[in-house]
Amino acid sequence: MSQTTSATAQITCGFCKGTGKDPFDLLSEHATCQVCGGTGNVEVVEPVIKCAFCRGSGVYHNTRITCTICNGKGMVPAPQSPTERCPKCEGTGMTIDSAMACLGCKGKGVVSK
Ligand SMILES: [Zn+2]
Ligand SMILES: [Zn+2]
Ligand SMILES: [Zn+2]
Repeated sequence: MSQTTSATAQITCGFCKGTGKDPFDLLSEHATCQVCGGTGNVEVVEPVIKCAFCRGSGVYHNTRITCTICNGKGMVPAPQSPTERCPKCEGTGMTIDSAMACLGCKGKGVVSK
């Protein structure tokens, strides 16, 4: 059994920006952030890249729900291979007409070469 090279890291929760509180006071004004559970940090498996779909905000566009691509973390696992900007969405991670997640890159904004 060989060791995997992936390592976990703690990053600031994108959804609450590290406050640990629900940014929209969705449930109550004291609601804890559903993404990080109130800790302000989330664990990711490196390497990660900023989520193109929500631009790292962790928030699904103009809604109060978590980004479906990064689950609110603001970062997504980076593709294993070298990447280039997704030609379908031009790196935005969303379709131009409907603001849904781009099928070409699954919202990451980059695709494997
Ligand atoms: Zn949070
Ligand atoms: Zn996202
Ligand atoms: Zn795309």
